[in-house]
Amino acid sequence: MCPTKQKMSNKTGQDEGEEQGFRRRLLSWFDENRRDLPWRYVDDPYAVWVSEIMLQQTRVTTVLDYYERWMKRFPTVEDLAEADLEEVLELWSGLGYYRRARHLHRAATTVVDEFDGELPQSVKGLKKLTGIGDYTAGAIASIAFGQVEPLVDGNVMRVIARYYAQDEDPKRGAGKRFVWDQAGKLVDPGRPGDFNQGLMELGSLVCTAKSPKCSECPLRRGCQGFACGDPTRFPPTATPTRQGPMRGRVCVIYRFSGGEAEFLLRRRPAEGLLAGLWEFPTVEVDGKSWPTLKDLRGWLSGEAETDQDRDLSKEFGEIEHVFSHRRLRVKVHQWDVSALHWPTLGKRWRWVSEAELSGVASSALMGKVKRLWTEQSEDRQQEIPVSQNG
Ligand code: SF4
Repeated sequence: MCPTKQKMSNKTGQDEGEEQGFRRRLLSWFDENRRDLPWRYVDDPYAVWVSEIMLQQTRVTTVLDYYERWMKRFPTVEDLAEADLEEVLELWSGLGYYRRARHLHRAATTVVDEFDGELPQSVKGLKKLTGIGDYTAGAIASIAFGQVEPLVDGNVMRVIARYYAQDEDPKRGAGKRFVWDQAGKLVDPGRPGDFNQGLMELGSLVCTAKSPKCSECPLRRGCQGFACGDPTRFPPTATPTRQGPMRGRVCVIYRFSGGEAEFLLRRRPAEGLLAGLWEFPTVEVDGKSWPTLKDLRGWLSGEAETDQDRDLSKEFGEIEHVFSHRRLRVKVHQWDVSALHWPTLGKRWRWVSEAELSGVASSALMGKVKRLWTEQSEDRQQEIPVSQNG
């Protein structure tokens, strides 16, 4: 508990004048310090929507190139709705959290089919679209349509929790309600989109998680977290809830054609972990026990419909990869099938050349497997390498 925290008669202790001061100082700071980002110069709700989805859990610097490529390929919601999901995922490849791309695609179809190509303007209407929750609805409504609606992302959560020295976890229960209520009371009625972007920008550039630059902050006057002497105490750190570990075996099946390597990829099921992405055939299980080689052979026979003899006993590496909520450790095998006649492939399988591999929608884990395979190919005398998730 912060000893200097003001007693809050109405939960906030802020009167109307203080809220106005908060808005004025924040907007004036934003006008001078806003970053020059391409989606801030378009009058297009679809572009705002795309940028907001891409920015979730992803750095601005990473999003810039993806955004430019995306808007070039799918400049309108109709272009996106008409595209194959496969192409959408390929364009998203490397950005992570692929569910965002699938949801964008599905929601674009809904906008075209049910809303005549126009995004709903209200938070309520926007939330009917797949993949649009409270945050994204608030962002589109306020930024693209000028609606006086709040939004709360990780940055806003941190600024508000510190400004009010909020002790409760802002991700759930009373703490979450408090942050949303405050964001709703503070949002500027004249410039809601700029206000919301300013609050996020302040959290990203000044009120950063580990070392807030309070001396540069326009909200320092009135900030109770600053007055307490250690604003990083707010919000309180929540213990992450993780699901249990997983173990797996990956088989890099390859052949040489005209001197170039080709790889056999399998598409993951449409639901579940890494849904719809392409991978080197992988069998995984929950828990800390490894699937056996027999499991891998049996799985390949069933899935790839081949009963060809194979020697998969040699592992050439082990990789650990941490997803947002799971830790997967895999042993990596290889199988050179250059001399074999491969059976006809079903829809969930395809051969991909080494040059094409980087453009395929696949997870970062598969990128690590490929790098390991390349290293191993370059020096077969090398000791078995062990790669850790970086
Ligand atoms: S004064 Fe410091 S803690 Fe308060 S909002 Fe500004 S940067 Fe964050």
